[in-house]
Amino acid sequence: METEMNYGEDYAFLPVTSLQSRKGHEVLSDIYYHTIQIVNICMIGKKDDNNWVLVDAGMPSSADEIIIAAEKRFGPNSRPNGIILTHGHFDHVGAIIELINFWKVPVYAHELEMPYLTGKQSYSPPDPSVNGGLLAKLSMFYPNSPIDLGNNIEQLPSNGAIPILPGWRWIHTPGHTAGHISLFRDSDRVLIAGDAFVTVKQESIYKVFVQEKEISGPPRYFTTDWDSAKQSVINLHGLHPTIAVTGHGVPMEGNELTDSLEKLVEQFDQIAMPSSGKYD
Ligand SMILES: [Zn+2]
Ligand SMILES: [Zn+2]
Repeated sequence: METEMNYGEDYAFLPVTSLQSRKGHEVLSDIYYHTIQIVNICMIGKKDDNNWVLVDAGMPSSADEIIIAAEKRFGPNSRPNGIILTHGHFDHVGAIIELINFWKVPVYAHELEMPYLTGKQSYSPPDPSVNGGLLAKLSMFYPNSPIDLGNNIEQLPSNGAIPILPGWRWIHTPGHTAGHISLFRDSDRVLIAGDAFVTVKQESIYKVFVQEKEISGPPRYFTTDWDSAKQSVINLHGLHPTIAVTGHGVPMEGNELTDSLEKLVEQFDQIAMPSSGKYD
């Protein structure tokens, strides 16, 4: 039986955006990403093939945009086999309740993310004191109270498999959140990184607006465990991904990705970590 679902009481539409907003791009024949204001969702599946999976669920009030983008890519009335959440921050679950109600598909997340997806635990409040720009300061308005998906959210199996996505595995990449995951396909080393690292300086309103490409650690204002965040980046670097679609910023591939990830690993403290802030 379905239970009632609620967004956190602080969820609201946020007037932040970028030049990529409402645009989508195919990065591989079966990897498509779409930008909602300042966050990416990813659709795994070939165009016009009604066999696909959605990764993450955008900003608050974006359900219509996600459904329209999905139908444009996969055909009228198409719905995914399911939805995977990299983590439960408001900008990755913003439309999930409307999508569950509309599509009636299973949703999966990591075991350690469950308290934040079932109304039991709030994230630590965003830290607007991290240096890095105006968007970091605006982050004090970002919702951090938990969404409650009731029994509409399922725990991913502990062996790394993803039930609706053969050929892929989930990789625990904690630090940004406790149960943060990235998705990896071994056959061509495609990485969907979530917020484990991103390709835009997410604290800068200007760089986010123009989506200036620059390797960056996880968005600072929400990251609380920097040691784990660093180890997660080291682990992802060790997979030698050929292409990475990140939760924020444009995808990165080839030598640019390899070199950037190497630089991020080597200079993590300087590049990723705030020099001030309460979660240092
Ligand atoms: Zn996040
Ligand atoms: Zn995010």
